[in-house]
Amino acid sequence: MRKPFICGNWKMNKNVDQAKAMLTELKAKVAEVEEVEMGICPTALALTAVKEAAAGSDIVTGAQNIYWEESGAYTGEISAKMLADSEIEYTIIGHSERREIFGESDFEVNKKVHAALENGVKAIVCVGETLEERKAEKIEAKVNFQVDAALAGLSEEEIADVVIAYEPIWAIGTGETASAEEANRVIGIIRDHIRESYPEAAEKIRIQYGGSVKPHNVEEIMAQEEIDGALVGGASLKAESFSEIILKTE
Ligand code: PGA
Repeated sequence: MRKPFICGNWKMNKNVDQAKAMLTELKAKVAEVEEVEMGICPTALALTAVKEAAAGSDIVTGAQNIYWEESGAYTGEISAKMLADSEIEYTIIGHSERREIFGESDFEVNKKVHAALENGVKAIVCVGETLEERKAEKIEAKVNFQVDAALAGLSEEEIADVVIAYEPIWAIGTGETASAEEANRVIGIIRDHIRESYPEAAEKIRIQYGGSVKPHNVEEIMAQEEIDGALVGGASLKAESFSEIILKTE
């Protein structure tokens, strides 16, 4: 009932020409895909180019970040309204790199989630524990706290439409993945936690796994009951590997 969602997070990679070239290649490779939602989150500079290059395919486009105000004196930022005006479907919010490198707080994540949804942009909210928190057995406390903070003030209907990406921070870009069973366990914890307050939304909300998802491990990850897709960094940068991940999910 929950359509799997495989989304590429290009981070600060690819100029506009490289983005267009990859989309042309990717479109051809995934033309027959029906059972998987597919997305690409390029840099802000390449958003409209990716959107245009994806035309005629089922590939959706997402930003990697937004600011919550609509417009004004916020140098360096782009708003949810601007994404909506360009028909950009998604935005990632609260990626661990934004939280760690740019000091983004749970409060800001919540403001951004509200801004996205108010403008009809879907949110992919990232949560996950550090290695220290994992060792200290604080996984559950950490992810549930982040989920509560991100979703605060939303209606159950809005929550049902959010995407959560569970990304253990120690597994991002490191080649280390949480075992498929462990990812499934934590995602189950998140879903159970949401179920306590929002039973209907818990069945509908899609929770992805992220952290070194590759063609060789995606099948095992996607075979898990609780896992509804993947947020893919490194392996989304090549049409070859990203399409393989999508086709193995299909
Ligand atoms: P990775 O990145 O696949 O390169 O580990 C995932 C992410 O940061 O979303």
